[in-house]
Parts: sequence; C-alpha cells; structure tokens
Amino acid sequence: MTSLVLSASSAATTLLIIVISIFVVRRRNSQTSLTAKKVIPLDVTSSSLEPTTLSKSLASALPDIVIFPHDAAAFKQSMNSYWAQQECEVIPACVVRPRDVQQLCAAVTVIKREYDKRQKQPGEEMAQGLFAIRSGGHSPVPGAASIKGGAVIDLSLLCEVSPSEDGSSVVIGAGAKWADVSKVLDGKGIAVVGARNSAVGVGGSTLGGGLSFFTPRFGLVGSNVLSYELVLASGSIVKASASTNADLWRALKGGSNNFGIVTCFTVRSFPCTKIWSGFLYLLPSQAAKVLAAFHECVNRAASDDPGASYAAGPMACFTYIQKLSLQAIAVNLAYTKSPENGKKWPTYWSTSSFGSLWRLWSTCKIRTITSATDEMSVLNPPGRRQVFATTTIKNDPDTLAAAYAAYSDAIASLRRINVRGLVWTLVLQPLLPDWVSTGDTNPLGLYDCHNEPLVIVSFTVNWDERRDDEFVKMTTRRAVEQIDAVAAANKTGHRFRFLNYCAEWQRPLESYGDENWRFLQGISRKYDPEGLFQKGCVGGFKLDIAHREA
Ligand SMILES: Cc1cc2nc3c(=O)[nH]c(=O)nc-3n(C[C@H](O)[C@H](O)[C@H](O)COP(=O)(O)OP(=O)(O)OC[C@H]3O[C@@H](n4cnc5c(N)ncnc54)[C@H](O)[C@@H]3O)c2cc1C
Repeated sequence: MTSLVLSASSAATTLLIIVISIFVVRRRNSQTSLTAKKVIPLDVTSSSLEPTTLSKSLASALPDIVIFPHDAAAFKQSMNSYWAQQECEVIPACVVRPRDVQQLCAAVTVIKREYDKRQKQPGEEMAQGLFAIRSGGHSPVPGAASIKGGAVIDLSLLCEVSPSEDGSSVVIGAGAKWADVSKVLDGKGIAVVGARNSAVGVGGSTLGGGLSFFTPRFGLVGSNVLSYELVLASGSIVKASASTNADLWRALKGGSNNFGIVTCFTVRSFPCTKIWSGFLYLLPSQAAKVLAAFHECVNRAASDDPGASYAAGPMACFTYIQKLSLQAIAVNLAYTKSPENGKKWPTYWSTSSFGSLWRLWSTCKIRTITSATDEMSVLNPPGRRQVFATTTIKNDPDTLAAAYAAYSDAIASLRRINVRGLVWTLVLQPLLPDWVSTGDTNPLGLYDCHNEPLVIVSFTVNWDERRDDEFVKMTTRRAVEQIDAVAAANKTGHRFRFLNYCAEWQRPLESYGDENWRFLQGISRKYDPEGLFQKGCVGGFKLDIAHREA
C-alpha cells in the first residue's frame, strides 16, 4: 500500500515537473523568439573584413545595395537574421541585397567576371568560393547561406506574394518566409503547399523538396511549383516550367542551389480556410506506446483509408532537456480540413492510437495556416547553436526502437559532458513514396519504392556554447550511424536522405540514386557550363563535378 501511495505521489510530482518544464520551455522559447538578442563576434576593424576585389567591384556596379561591415548597424542586422547562431558567425566581406531581378543579374554578372578571371589563374583562392545565396537563412548548416570573406547574395527583399485573380496560383518571391505567404493567403481562403514553420524561407525549403502539411494530398512543396524564374551563371533570366526548360524545372525540385539563383516561384494554390493541427504532450514513460502508435499510423497513411490524404504526420518528437534533466514527448498531428460535424478531433485521428493515448496536454485545434506554422516557429526560436542530421528507414518496429535507443544512449554521454543549454531531440515522421510521386515529377528517386512507407528520422539539437560544437556534432553523427548500422543489418534502411534536414557531412543529392545524380550533373553542365554554382557558390550540397576537366 505504502509503495502504491509513494509511486502515486512520485508520479504526481513527475507530472507536475513535466507540465511546469514544458510551460517554462515554451514560455522561454516564445520570449526568446520575440526578443532574441544575439551577440556576434564581429570586429569591423579586423583586416579580414577589408573589402575584397570582388566586393569592391560589386559596390562600384551596385553602390546602393552592397552592405559592408563598416556599415555596422545594417551589416549586423543582416548577420543576426540567420536562425542558427553558428551561421551568424560566418562573416562575409559584404552582403548584396538586390531590390529587383535586374540588380540581381548585374551582381551575378560581376561575380561571374571575377570567377572567370580566377579560373584562368588556378590557385588556392578559387577553392574558397566567391559567394553564397541566402533566402530565409534558416538552414542549420553553418556556411550553407553565408561565406567567410565572400559575398552573400541576400534575397530577402525579393519577397512579393501575389495570388492570381482566379485563385489557382501564387507568385512568391524567393526571399519570402512562409509567414509572409500565409498572412496574405489566409484572408483570401486559399493556401499553397508550403513548409510547416512560418519562419522558414521559401527559397531553401522549396529547392530542397519541401515537406508540408499538405504533402499527403498534393505532394512535396517543390512538386507544386508551376514555374521558376532564375538567374543563371551567364547573368540571364530564364523561366523553367513544364513547357520551357522542362529538364531544369525537374532538377529544381530537390536540386537546391546548383543551377542558378531562383528569384521567384509560381506555385499552385487551392481553396483552404483553416486546418486542424497541434501538439500532444506526453510523459517520457509513454515512449513505447508512442512508437507503437507511430508505426500503426504510418501504415495506415499508406492504406486506402479515405481520410489519409488529409492527415499529415504524426511527427513524433522525443526531447531531452539537459538543464532540467528531463525528457518529454510531443507529437504533432494535422488534418488539412476541418473535423466532421464540428467535432473536436477529426475521426481519422480520434480513431487512431494517438486518439486514445493519455496525454498531459493538447494544443490541437482548428486554426489558420499562420497559426499552425507559428506554433512550430515559436518552439524553434533563433539565436541558438544548432545541428540537424537525418537518415531514412522503413517503417519497421525494431528499427524504430533502434532509433529511440540511439537517442537514449546519447543522453548518457551528453549528461556526462554537461553541454550547457542542450535540447536533444529525435524526430520521426512518415514519408510515403506515394506522396513524393504526387504532383510534378522530381529527381528524388522514390518512384520505385512500391509505396513501402518510409520514416524520416532526424536529430534536431540546440545548445548554448561554441566550445560544445564539436562534441554535439560528433554525438549526433554517431547516433545517426548507430541507427544506420541496425537498419543495414535488418535490411530496413533506405538510401534516401531528405536534403532539408541533412548535416554538412551528408550527401543528399547522391541519395537520390545514380540516375538522378547523373541527371542533376547533366543539368548543371548544360545551364552552368563553367561551374559557377559548383565552385564559385559555396554552401549547401554540391554535385561534385570536375568542371575544369569537363
Ligand atoms: C525549425 C525548422 C523547421 C523546418 N521545417 C521544415 C518543414 O516543415 N519542411 C521542410 O521541408 N523543411 C523544413 N525545415 C528545413 C528547411 O527547409 C531548410 O533548412 C531550408 O534550407 C531553409 O530554407 P531557407 O531559405 O530559410 O534557408 P537558407 O539558409 O537561406 O538557404 C538554404 C540553402 O538553400 C539555398 N537557397 C536558398 N534560396 C535560394 C534561391 N533562391 N536560389 C538558389 N539557392 C537558394 C542556399 O544557398 C542554402 O544553401 C525546417 C528547418 C528548421 C530549422
């Protein structure tokens, strides 16, 4: 009896601590996202920040749009607007902020001239690259959208959102964030297939394929782009659509920054007023039940259940918060139409195992896209050191358990080191090959999977101090490798790696399979024969083309 009372009271205490900690973390996150103040180690007197030949040429061609470090306020504002703190610390020689496509063309022409000059005098300089492209600045990979001592092409002023009169498409500037898009579209009762976090940039997320609440219904974000406008290495503006440069159009649906700078996307839109979405918060002791429910729901997503195409997720997040020495589980569920007959939950989810799981708290409700994507953004504030890494497995219970074991095993070593401010999260989410083949054709290489459900496994980790960078990165990589080893042994792994969640050491473009990899290389050779976007443009994932030998 005593032990029963004790265990009941310790369960109550645990519950209370978890509720308080979730509240504290959410509050802290929402405050951080509103007031985030990042201190960047920017020494404007440093000789490394002297204008380079390239930045001087850019300033002389485009004096009004080039920001140098000595313009401290504007320069720091630009540097501080990256999401990951490490990216804020990659200091370029200048930032170029074009206000229109012509200015962007002029900048690319200057950069290409410098590139051609350097190509003729091979040396170490060239290896460093000349420029980086930045849209929303949300990549967790340091140097993906900035370049030490080079020129950052910052597209944030190209942020128009223009719905067509008939509501069937929207033109979106590549520098817009998804919040800019949903704020315009919510009021018009239409939506597009966009990322699930309002602070994420349209440019990077769309060019990496892009997962959306609407993916089960309409496919990936990139698979719903009717046409791209981009500036090629030659400085010319081209369109890529199903009828014009169709090969480039396909390559851009997952090929990232390898072919040119995309200035705007024309994307399909459809009627949508509100969706149902939110998080369930659960006790860490429910991990096994959450894994079982997740496995069941992923299989159900692949079934011919009529509700399946409206159901996004589950996105199951297992988190360890070092400061509180606590774990918590959060599961995001979404349904892209309102529940039937005014019910609180759509039948699809209330009849799933998640419907009957005991939970501490739920934020699930009918809401606008802005509200649904803001919820994700508030939980992931800027200004922290970040790392992402990912792998893909089949929806196999043992391999899911192995992913959870890799997450748990790492907690022990992270605890020993006491990484300040560490939040260590394992995220599981479904990826059905059917979803990837819905919408326009893409180069992701998932057409031959016979709709065997896959699971994207990712680690999203953040912490406070630079001294812990290497340890956290190494721990994350080991955890991914641990899962891959089990998956390889069980034959439950998959070669695909979702580019938008990859760490710098991963090779997402190769994971699309040989044929697609060669296709992307061919598109690069065709539209960028001198390899400006392979060698001159740093950051992101490249195609490994030896252009000089080609
Ligand atoms: C908290 C969080 C939530 C996320 N949620 C989602 C999600 O729901 N769905 C999803 O698919 N992904 C998601 N992601 C991943 C996200 O899509 C990638 O990090 C993406 O790269 C961010 O795009 P960006 O424009 O903000 O980033 P940036 O850092 O500006 O750019 C990322 C890369 O894209 C290239 N690039 C950007 N714009 C252009 C352009 N116009 N032309 C050529 N190259 C360009 C850059 O050079 C860079 O290499 C999320 C990431 C985070 C951190």
